[in-house]
Amino acid sequence: MPPSPRPPRLTALRLLLPYLAAYRARIAAAGAALLVAALLVLGLGLGVKRLIDTGFAHAGTAALNHAALLMFGVITALAGATFVRFYLVSWLGERVAADLRAAMFNHVISLSPAFLDTARAGDVLARMTADVAVLQALIGWVLSQWLRNAVMLAGALVMLVVTSPKLAGIVIVVAPVVVVPIIVLGRRGRRLSRGAQDRVADLTAYAEETLAALRTVQAYTHEAIDRRRFGQEVARAVEAALRRVRASATVMLLVILLGFGAITFSLWVGGRDVIAGRLSGGELSAFIFYAVLVASSGAMMSELWGELQRAAGAAERIGELLAERPAIVAPADPQPLPRPMRGEIRFEAVDFCYPTRPGQRALAGLSLTVAPGETVALVGPSGAGKTTMLQLLLRFYDPQAGRVRIDGIDIARLDPAELRGCIALVAQEPVIFGDNAWENIRYGRPEASDAEVRAAARAAAAEAFLDALPEGFDTFLGEKGVQLSGGQRQRIAIARAILRDPPILLLDEATSALDAENEQAVQHALAAVARGRTTLVVAHRLATVRRADRIVVLDAGRVVAQGTHAELIGEGGLYARLAALQFTDA
Ligand code: ADP
Repeated sequence: MPPSPRPPRLTALRLLLPYLAAYRARIAAAGAALLVAALLVLGLGLGVKRLIDTGFAHAGTAALNHAALLMFGVITALAGATFVRFYLVSWLGERVAADLRAAMFNHVISLSPAFLDTARAGDVLARMTADVAVLQALIGWVLSQWLRNAVMLAGALVMLVVTSPKLAGIVIVVAPVVVVPIIVLGRRGRRLSRGAQDRVADLTAYAEETLAALRTVQAYTHEAIDRRRFGQEVARAVEAALRRVRASATVMLLVILLGFGAITFSLWVGGRDVIAGRLSGGELSAFIFYAVLVASSGAMMSELWGELQRAAGAAERIGELLAERPAIVAPADPQPLPRPMRGEIRFEAVDFCYPTRPGQRALAGLSLTVAPGETVALVGPSGAGKTTMLQLLLRFYDPQAGRVRIDGIDIARLDPAELRGCIALVAQEPVIFGDNAWENIRYGRPEASDAEVRAAARAAAAEAFLDALPEGFDTFLGEKGVQLSGGQRQRIAIARAILRDPPILLLDEATSALDAENEQAVQHALAAVARGRTTLVVAHRLATVRRADRIVVLDAGRVVAQGTHAELIGEGGLYARLAALQFTDA
């Protein structure tokens, strides 16, 4: 997912339509509240007019009371409508953001792991959090504010004309003179502001680099040069900041001069009409009220335009993620696995390159048959393709040529869920989830009873150390939980695999050395889990290869030798060299 180079299009926001459609009734209610509130604000102008004309002009207390009461009624209704709009729209923002996050999460975990070879997890997370937050703000307030201001702007323009066509004419002619320079200078101000931020970033980067290399700086007595250069950077940053300050100051000057100037001018023209009796004092006041409303709504809308574009960018990034298709697709009419399974694994002349390295073959014409119930240890130098074999067997990737079969069936013909259902994986770095020991082991089979979990832990030589934890099996493991040793983590992962009780077991042994006691416990656990299943182990330990029925030596993506430990040592080839160097307990 490369970042989009062009500016975002507002049409990207169409992404939200299906999510909004679920809440049609609430949207309609919010829209109605918004319309009512906007109309009531417009009504306030009429209230002002009446208050002044009937109350002050004719100096009648009763009329004044009546007008004030009416105003108060309008204000109460306005407050109510605003409450309803704000509540409904914020509610919508929360709901749609929650739905979007759920949809993205569901989508992302269904993608092939190959997806994470190219996309950075941090980028995916940013799309799920920051970009969704931008859309939440869009629905939660930006959009409704924009609409509210648009309605008020249109309404206030109409009311200007209704109140005094002549003054309205003047405003429409004068408005661009006021608005255009302010918008232009405002844009320039934003550009300059970005420039000033960049200069400060340069400054920080320079200081950071110098500080990080302080020993080198001083060893080479480079301080004087650094001081001078830093001084230059500071001067550049100040210059950029001052340019921005001048632009802001000018905008303020113009806003006051042109804005209040225009109001004074209208008051002057309108005042003459009032004196001549062509316009009432109330009408003039209402007119000024509407003119200010036009200006403030217009200003709000142009401010919010930036937010709308930001939201379009966010919607685009979210849309890209949701459009990502899994590289592995389930066949339309999957073939079922024969039951009971035998658990035979066969690689037939498999050629495979990772999608990110199309030129480099991780497996090159690899063929291997593992008999049901057999334990095969895969050994070979780093990068030989051992882990890749496990990944293909789980169908995280498809080979470019050749086939992988289980019990004679091409795994591409199986439903991936059924395929993975008959395999348990113990990864090189066992994953411990943020939960207690029960749930960490139950991950292998969510419906297992406590007694079954305990039995699996016992078989994996994990029961004793789990019982010894402060709260036994209820102890929270994983991040911010108890610290487990590497061997203990492996035994929990093995217990998980035992509980799953699959016909096929894939083990990627950790390369890190274990202490003698842990080593023995892990070997014991491995023996327990491998019993009665077809087992493929990426082996890094002498004890493991000794226990295996057969050792397969891999190099550069192909099988170069196989046999027992003694046979292979006797041959004195790659295996003998590896055995001398690589086995952590040799
Ligand atoms: P082993 O497990 O024997 O150390 P691997 O199966 O991990 O070897 O790797 C085989 C080859 O594939 C290596 O050249 C490795 O660099 C490459 N490789 C492994 N994983 C990936 C990946 N996710 N993307 C691209 N290349 C990979």
